[in-house]
Amino acid sequence: MPHTDQVKKEEYRLRRNAKNREKYARTRAVSGPTEEELKKDRERAKIYRELHREEINEKRRVLYRDPSSVDRIRQRDRDRYAEDRYKRVKTSRRSNLKVKIETIDAYGGECAICGEFHIECLTIDHSFGDGGKFRKAMLLKTNRACGGSSLYRFLRNQGFPKDLGLRVLCFNCNCSIGAYGYSPYET
Ligand SMILES: [Zn+2]
Repeated sequence: MPHTDQVKKEEYRLRRNAKNREKYARTRAVSGPTEEELKKDRERAKIYRELHREEINEKRRVLYRDPSSVDRIRQRDRDRYAEDRYKRVKTSRRSNLKVKIETIDAYGGECAICGEFHIECLTIDHSFGDGGKFRKAMLLKTNRACGGSSLYRFLRNQGFPKDLGLRVLCFNCNCSIGAYGYSPYET
């Protein structure tokens, strides 16, 4: 195939791609992606990742070994974050709530003392029982604080282990026990 033909072919391909992207973006902008479209996207991305796993890994290895690119990536992420901070905060709040619900449900779904079940009032109590064992288990995997959504994410990653002496308490019971050693809701 002559060289010019190849160039033409490539040009045609690129233009067609750009056109399709534009068309696709337009329809999405009007109605937003449907559940089905999102699912298709995720599946497509997954297949791509599987087919190109080694290639992707190698690119990342090269990228992350270069300190200047790490700085560049950091700056890029900062810029992106500043661009739509509101949206990101909303998204992360949603995903934090999701992991909290999963965790609370996995450990009983209600306060172990008084039966309070509103998610807003519940927390994971990890100050009783084998606290040392728990902290060690968590610190081994991550060096993050043992609380809040990083705690929930850690537990989810571990498949919600039942042998760490964790239970669900409401904030009232949790704080009372912390301050007075008992909860007035105890029967
Ligand atoms: Zn309670």
